[in-house]
Amino acid sequence: MIDFSRGYSRRKFLAHTSCFGAFHAVAKLIPLSALAAELASDSRVSATPLVDKGFASVRKIGEGLYATISDPSKGNTTLCNGGFIAGKDSALLIEGFTTAGGASFQMEALRMVSQVPVKGALDTHYHFDHSMGNAFYGANGIPLWAHATTAKRIVENYSPLQGADKDAVLGSFEKQVKDAKSETERQHAQSDLNAVTGLYQIANASILALPNHPLDPAKLPVTIDLGGLSAVIESHPGHSGTDMIVRVPQQNVVYTGDLLFNGWYPVCFDEKATVSGWRATLARFAAYDKDTIFVPGHGQICGQEGIASIREVFDDIAAQAEKLFKAGVPVSEAQHRYVVPDKFKSFPIFAWGFTIGPAIAKLYAEWGTK
Ligand SMILES: [Zn+2]
Repeated sequence: MIDFSRGYSRRKFLAHTSCFGAFHAVAKLIPLSALAAELASDSRVSATPLVDKGFASVRKIGEGLYATISDPSKGNTTLCNGGFIAGKDSALLIEGFTTAGGASFQMEALRMVSQVPVKGALDTHYHFDHSMGNAFYGANGIPLWAHATTAKRIVENYSPLQGADKDAVLGSFEKQVKDAKSETERQHAQSDLNAVTGLYQIANASILALPNHPLDPAKLPVTIDLGGLSAVIESHPGHSGTDMIVRVPQQNVVYTGDLLFNGWYPVCFDEKATVSGWRATLARFAAYDKDTIFVPGHGQICGQEGIASIREVFDDIAAQAEKLFKAGVPVSEAQHRYVVPDKFKSFPIFAWGFTIGPAIAKLYAEWGTK
């Protein structure tokens, strides 16, 4: 394994990857909430993290099970959550994170507790914050697992940004800020511009690395034997069309990827995202054991209360959208009319046009408007 843990290369690397200015502006507004009291007292969950670097910490959540939890307000090295599962014979890493430094951080955490060979690293889906650090795995000969279409989606969505003219990429988003019809629409458009600027910077600072171990959803679920510990990989609809989860049924632990945003507004922009499919997936999660621990794609680890909460958010978006739909409000306007209720005021909104706006547009499409 290449050792990034000492010497000049790591310092230089981290200096380089920590300067996504626009992205930092988005992420610094997203602090990580504290671990819920119920989980803090759960005997499976370690009271203190194995390691805490600010931008992310790694915590034991079961026998051989660890969760990597990001705090975006403290840096962009990882941004999403992940984790690893270490059996007696081999280990499975979850997520490629936003930077190779993030994947390296998680690998180092694994090596603090286990020296077993790594069977694979799984991207739960293709999105940049889960895949742009994949090059670390490539450089270390670790097989990279993902949904069969993840490699294609990474290439289609992120290659065109590399070397692209910045004005060409951002022009339409800047125009939406200028042309906004109200202060609300202007703020929404500005949040979208900030997010896309950050994505442009990250794509141009990254070496894209593609999964070489495609998982055909038609052949799932599949059970992976790690030696005394079995992980089940499943595919479910909702967030990106490439979503995978990892379950450890023996211990009631689920790594959900972005099918769960805990205490956030869900990111629904993806062309393959489906609101009805996602809500059906969440109903399935709600039927899991009442003692299930969920490691969400973003936000703090949680129990069933986290599933109940995101279902309530979807219910609220759908209820408000339905009123607008029935009143004949056009979709372009309805996307900006949603009002965040008091109980969700603390929920981060990554960018309006990546979360609430497209959720409303997709609901309208499902209800059958032009
Ligand atoms: Zn995602």
